[in-house]
Amino acid sequence: MESIKLVLISQAEIFAPENIGVKDILISGETIVAIADKIDATTLKPFDVIVIDAKGKRAIPGLIDAHVHIAGAGGEGGPSTRTPEMQLSQMIVGGITSIVGCLGTDGITRRPDSVLMKVKSLKAEGVSAWMYTGSYQVPTPTITGAIDRDLALVDEVIGVGEIALSDHRSSVPTTNEIIRIAEQARVGGMLGGKAGIVNIHMGDAKNPFNPIVEAVKNSELKYKQFFPTHCNRNDYIFEDAKTYGKEGYVDITASSYPYFAEYEVKPSTSIKELLNAGVPIEHITMTSDGNGSLPHFDDNGELVRLEMGQPKSIFTEMSEAVTIDKLPLEVALKTVTSNVAKILKLRNKGNIRVGADADIVLIERNFTITEVISRGRVMLSNKKLLVKGTYEY
Ligand SMILES: [Zn+2]
Repeated sequence: MESIKLVLISQAEIFAPENIGVKDILISGETIVAIADKIDATTLKPFDVIVIDAKGKRAIPGLIDAHVHIAGAGGEGGPSTRTPEMQLSQMIVGGITSIVGCLGTDGITRRPDSVLMKVKSLKAEGVSAWMYTGSYQVPTPTITGAIDRDLALVDEVIGVGEIALSDHRSSVPTTNEIIRIAEQARVGGMLGGKAGIVNIHMGDAKNPFNPIVEAVKNSELKYKQFFPTHCNRNDYIFEDAKTYGKEGYVDITASSYPYFAEYEVKPSTSIKELLNAGVPIEHITMTSDGNGSLPHFDDNGELVRLEMGQPKSIFTEMSEAVTIDKLPLEVALKTVTSNVAKILKLRNKGNIRVGADADIVLIERNFTITEVISRGRVMLSNKKLLVKGTYEY
């Protein structure tokens, strides 16, 4: 049997995400067991200890990417445009240790069951993973036959989505249909002890938040039941997000930038502008939309070109929110760590503290990732990948 290893991270400046100064962090198994000014490695001698000298580096929580097409997606340009499954290394190189998978446009030939199996595969490979059941479509495909059953009974399912609204690929659900989906997610979430959130794909239609506003107005639901994403996809949705964000959550998509630079708002700048507009930081998150296809349609609705998003974009944009948009690191970090953990009720994630899961990323001052620790295991060390996915060589 493999013995439990201790990992001692020595003298890192910790952003938990708040800056708690230069300290040592001790990890046992998958958990952070101590944080102190100095932990003497010699006293740990009977154990097998890996010591990481982090002097001059910063320790941040492993990033949480809460919207990734882990089992592949796309297909808007025909069968050859289906995107492949995400590989483990795509997360690790971006400092991402937790992920939430979703289906996407193609709820016809792809199933939530495949997303669930991919979640299980990623967990077995050493990271933390969950999923939304469903797809763009309404009625939406599920694993057990119902949204509430999936949430109540399947551990990995924490919400439903991405349900497409305000988009030419949407099923255009009625207000009552949206309410019903959200009520099912809510009840299933209560029974299963989950967030029960409704992840919404926001499209390019005008007044894009209207369907959510109508659903909330006509029910007992609260704005915080919904988690709308792609809120920076064009300037008018972004303008609306500045108002909507005072009540509800606003999720920024990182990986599509700069493919649609003509109308998209740069993700890092979006965070700053939302804050300037009075949106509370706790309402702002950023996800990658990784492995999603990025179809570019012309004015006649014809597909012009396709790209594929990468999870690491959330690290890049978080970094640029600091280096270019001049936000403090502890503020920018929240959008990809503690805020996401809180909104999605991912307990023990998104913070560096005693008792939390040992998901830690070490970065240099210039935002180069040097180490990634996921569930206590060193996955990347000295900028080199130590652990790859099963079929990555
Ligand atoms: Zn989407």
